[in-house]
Amino acid sequence: MTDINQLIHAYVTEGACWHEFSIHPLKDDNTFDWHHCRFCGMSEGDLKIGEDIRPDYSTPDNFKKLTDKLFGDERMYEAFEYHAGTAWANSGTHQYMMQWLFSDYARFVALFAEFLRLPETVREFGYKECSCKSMGWDIAKCHQCNGTGKILRPWAKLVEEENHGG
Ligand SMILES: [Zn+2]
Ligand SMILES: [Zn+2]
Repeated sequence: MTDINQLIHAYVTEGACWHEFSIHPLKDDNTFDWHHCRFCGMSEGDLKIGEDIRPDYSTPDNFKKLTDKLFGDERMYEAFEYHAGTAWANSGTHQYMMQWLFSDYARFVALFAEFLRLPETVREFGYKECSCKSMGWDIAKCHQCNGTGKILRPWAKLVEEENHGG
């Protein structure tokens, strides 16, 4: 199963790399080893100062990035609130729902990952329009969307891969 922070990273950044740096010896007779991401090939030296390689979204700074993004997706936020409301009702807490929801970042992050993994969330929010539509290409021949006119958003792609044993 995908790390929940990786799943949320895909949501917040719309698909930025979940870097994994490892040593790649250079070919030929060069003796230097460089640390490069095995997914995107980026060098560790290209990281911005203070950039989190694999952000933990339950820390205050990263939590803010998540909520900034989520508050901008109004319908999705409402659906998440509904999902969280069920957990709140089942928790037996005496706190108000919003107080409860925002009082524990780690719980919020876990609940949000759970929400992203729901089939109805993927169905409802997991797709974006393929560029073939706006570019006026022949949708039927588009290899990106296979003629459907829509493609999975990066987080939804991760969820689908989990569901198909990826
Ligand atoms: Zn990378
Ligand atoms: Zn397309």
